[in-house]
Amino acid sequence: MSPDCLFCKIVAGTIPANRVYEDELSIGFPDINPQAPTHILIIPKQHIASQAKAVSEDTALFGHLMAAAAEIARNQKLERGYRIVVNTGDEGGQTVNHLHLHLLGGRRMGWPPG
Ligand code: 5GP
Ligand code: ZN
Repeated sequence: MSPDCLFCKIVAGTIPANRVYEDELSIGFPDINPQAPTHILIIPKQHIASQAKAVSEDTALFGHLMAAAAEIARNQKLERGYRIVVNTGDEGGQTVNHLHLHLLGGRRMGWPPG
């Protein structure tokens, strides 16, 4: 728990979010400003500021988040495909400094990304 972190407050429940997924290590909830018909954020309950902070001890947690994203994608009926995005750092477009996976689906994705 990092006291000034928005997503830690969502984990704690002091800021509301519609939890479409929850397990012992992570939660998933809709992005407040969706960029696709389905746009879910998957975050660890533990505060990790960024993907760039990952160390070998985090391997299992990162794998867990990917498996959670796959389960949410199945629940959300994204069988036609989807995209997982992890914006990292300022140039990577990260605006909330608590690790999160964006799960985007329900439309055809463009490439290269913006
Ligand atoms: P980033 O830009 O760091 O990759 O992603 C942060 C995401 O968090 C943005 O897509 C933004 O719309 C979303 N977001 C910011 N504040 C809130 C909030 O209070 N609730 C929810 N559900 N999403 C938020
Ligand atoms: Zn946090």
